[in-house]
Amino acid sequence: MPTAYAKHFKPNETPQSEPIREDQVKNSAGGFVWSVDSWTRLDRFLILGTEKGTYYASEQKITRENAKSVVDLIKKDGERVVARVLEISNAGRAYKNDAALFVLALCFAEGDARTKAVAKDALPKVARTGTHLFTFLEYVNSLRGWGRGLKSAVAQWYDSLSADNLALQLTKYKERNGWSHRDALRLAHPKTKDEDKNWLYRFAVGKVTDFTEAPAFIAACESVKTAKARDAADYVRKYNLPREVLPTEVLTDPLVWEALLEKMPMTAMIRNLATMTRIGAIKPMAKWTSEVNKRLTDKERLTKGRIHPIQLLAALTTYSAGHGARGQNSWTPVQAVNDALDKAFYLSFDAIEPTGKRIMLAVDVSGSMGGGTICGVPGLTPRHGAAAMALTIANAESNYAIYGFGTRFEPLNISPRMRLDTAMNNMNLPFQGTDCALPMLHAIKEKMEIDAFIVITDSETWAGHAHPKQALDQYRAKFGIPAKLVVVGMVSNGFTIADPNDRGMLDVVGFSTDTPTVIADFIRE
Ligand code: CA
Repeated sequence: MPTAYAKHFKPNETPQSEPIREDQVKNSAGGFVWSVDSWTRLDRFLILGTEKGTYYASEQKITRENAKSVVDLIKKDGERVVARVLEISNAGRAYKNDAALFVLALCFAEGDARTKAVAKDALPKVARTGTHLFTFLEYVNSLRGWGRGLKSAVAQWYDSLSADNLALQLTKYKERNGWSHRDALRLAHPKTKDEDKNWLYRFAVGKVTDFTEAPAFIAACESVKTAKARDAADYVRKYNLPREVLPTEVLTDPLVWEALLEKMPMTAMIRNLATMTRIGAIKPMAKWTSEVNKRLTDKERLTKGRIHPIQLLAALTTYSAGHGARGQNSWTPVQAVNDALDKAFYLSFDAIEPTGKRIMLAVDVSGSMGGGTICGVPGLTPRHGAAAMALTIANAESNYAIYGFGTRFEPLNISPRMRLDTAMNNMNLPFQGTDCALPMLHAIKEKMEIDAFIVITDSETWAGHAHPKQALDQYRAKFGIPAKLVVVGMVSNGFTIADPNDRGMLDVVGFSTDTPTVIADFIRE
């Protein structure tokens, strides 16, 4: 080969705009990558959702593509699909339950008899509140999935509730998405010999005129409608009434919130931190402030309440800002609450055992990672989510470096010692193109010893002169380290830079509560 050519010829390097193997596919940016395995794609959909779409595709388009992929899986192994939905939903691995409810609705619409039977048994476990049930019913409607099996599944949902829980569902979660209990009960006609439940069914469809035989809880819900704050607080304590049944006038009184706080579920507590601060139930050094902070940093409570890291991240960024999204309400954030939310974020993942390995955390900060949102959370772009995932691993490990890359590669100004709201603000960077090979190429250039590259990305890479796989192979050959590559997928698409034939590469889904432990187990081996 003439020397003029040899100078430019690099063995084993192919521009990302050309495939290196036949099994590669073109991503939305025109680069060649691989397709993720269908089960990983299902996980991405269940965990990351498709709300507000992505940089490259609308919400409708991604949902349609994911639905098509899920239907194929349902035809192949519907029982396994239901089992996966049940596992992710029950363990609180996803921030939102909507995708799980959608997939369950797909199982009713597209599954065989066996799939429908397991889906029916799963329904009360996945649809844990009236709101979940209504969301599910709206999905069924849009998929034209009504049939006899579905009606009996809804009847079974009501059968599975105790009379007390039924009373709570009927009052706390009255209606959603154009559905009410009245509509659902008229379709499903559940039958029971339990007199309390029969009374409640009549009440729900508007057939009760006489409240003398009402269960105590329902009677209290009626009486509290006209109560003053002090009496409302007594009703809350005595009958364990939720906030939803109280008249708005009493919700400006700290006494009522203090009564509610005694048994308030974690989700409600987190959702109402700003309100409770605004009306003065939470303020610096107050008794309830330290109790709230104690609960927020109680790992067991977080797990039992299925509190997801995204919920805590969203709560922290909103709460610490001191005003709501539309700006009408404002409050003075209590610093101790900010700090407790920050700590809670790290606690809400499964406990990580540090690996002690040398880890490069590479966050894709390219333009495409700045489009769309994760689970519809305002301001939580895939890029912000990627930074938060990097911090989660950094928080547990001791030997790491965090970088950001697009078409440049540079240290990222974030650290687990920094509060998350500050770290998130530091992620508002200028947009660039994408080259997912840069982490490995940088390590080669700087002669860094790395056991694991963790690349947090949407795999929409296109700009590089070498494929990430080729860069990793070069790195391994040059340094004699069998370095691993973990791809943390931050978008509900079907792409990955991980070579399915390379056992040193792994695809995981960003923002599942077990993602950091799955990564640690893989790189520890
Ligand atoms: Ca990109």
